[in-house]
Amino acid sequence: MGAYINKVLENIKKASQPTFLQAATEVLHSIEPILRADKRYEQHSILERLVVPEKVTQFRIVWIDDKGKAQTNLGYRVQFSSALGPYKGGLRFHPSVNLDVLKFLGFEQIFKNSLTGLMIGGGKGGSDFDPKGKSEGEIMRFCQAFMLELSKIIGANTDVPAGDIGVGGREIGYMFGAYKKLTNLFDGTLTGKGLKWGGSLARTEATGYGCVYFADEMLKKAKDSLEGKVCSVSGSGNVAIYTIEKLAAFGAKAVTISDSSGFVYDKEGIDLELLKEIKEVKRGRVSDYAKAKKGAEFVSVDKYKKGTNGVWSVKCDGAFPSATENELNLADIKTLYKNGCRFVAEGANMPSSLESINFMLAQKDFHFAPAKAANAGGVATSQLEMQQNAGMAQWSFEEVDKKLHNIMKDIFHNSYETAKEFKHSGNLVVGSNIAGFRKVAEAMLEHGYC
Ligand code: NDP
Repeated sequence: MGAYINKVLENIKKASQPTFLQAATEVLHSIEPILRADKRYEQHSILERLVVPEKVTQFRIVWIDDKGKAQTNLGYRVQFSSALGPYKGGLRFHPSVNLDVLKFLGFEQIFKNSLTGLMIGGGKGGSDFDPKGKSEGEIMRFCQAFMLELSKIIGANTDVPAGDIGVGGREIGYMFGAYKKLTNLFDGTLTGKGLKWGGSLARTEATGYGCVYFADEMLKKAKDSLEGKVCSVSGSGNVAIYTIEKLAAFGAKAVTISDSSGFVYDKEGIDLELLKEIKEVKRGRVSDYAKAKKGAEFVSVDKYKKGTNGVWSVKCDGAFPSATENELNLADIKTLYKNGCRFVAEGANMPSSLESINFMLAQKDFHFAPAKAANAGGVATSQLEMQQNAGMAQWSFEEVDKKLHNIMKDIFHNSYETAKEFKHSGNLVVGSNIAGFRKVAEAMLEHGYC
């Protein structure tokens, strides 16, 4: 079976897409037990088909900056798999965006969306546009120019994008405005919409809340709880903020936040109202938080030990990486472990390197919640937004939050039981990847070769 997996990975290697290769390597090796148990997947070339997106669209975006000069960026949509429903996955605006990154994100999204138990396929998109330092007018004009092309390939029953890094409620608003003008439709094509025009209550909070619900379930299984735990959180965007909020609700205390310029350590616990004011209202940096909060310390990136992410040097019981991919490497996890950290729940996509995951899985006293399972609450709630839009309804915050909580419990138990079924008890990487894969692969078999 190893030979079959290696053959598929060899083909990916030829494309020189290291981030996608990393994601595919993790998934394919971890699902080996089911491939060995059920030969139909190899017989029908499921892996070869699964690692190739159904469709990739790349386009030019031309927009006018505040000086009246035309600027050009690249736009993409990777429509990876529609085996379980319309393509679904966020849009990322960040200078690091390229096809490699979007293929990794779209690939992960297939299994994550499958795990939610809802009817959604996998996709991802975005642009190398950098929103940092741009004026409100520039952001609006860029979003409109992006939608000029994207509107041709998306639709409420075809492909439903949402936000990701650099794309929040403001950007979704500008894109939706352009979408409805271009298509003459007012439908559920984008999720993460404003509450006055079709957005779902609790969607903003969903990824962070969901990650904490998952961590709570994981610790409960180990006869432990979040109560009284000191937690380290990276990032300071959507996922980080609502992880910190829900941790407090469970009696835990988040003591760090970060961005690409450095991290803040606030041993009293992060002041959520202040953080929201700085990030959501003023669109400031974490260093502004340290300036405003007595006792909080800002450490800039140039002070980090080479090859490490400084935020993980802080002593904690558990860590919630919530910024970006590969932000937690082997040196980081060794430091965390040495300092007493005994669980990691991934809010970001693929924040841990393969070596750090292997280290975590090898420790008998460590609990690891992989991104695909732990951060699926965002996309699950996006699908709840699609359901509300289709029925022209709006559910209460409590109703959506309760559904989210139940979905996260189900994902945990499905992953846990699947790991046990394949004789990898406690290994949620194996459990979530196999559970996600099985449903997609079965649908592909039923759809024939397409
Ligand atoms: P935001 O844009 O709201 O926040 C991203 C945060 O991460 C910012 O603090 C940003 O700092 C930091 N960051 C981004 N890139 C880097 C980098 N290269 N180095 C250091 N810090 C960095 O994004 P989200 O909170 O929405 O997303 C965070 C992660 O969660 C991503 O991996 C995303 O794919 C994942 N995710 C998000 C979901 C959602 O619902 N939003 C759903 C599931 C997963 P700076 O401002 O300096 O760039």
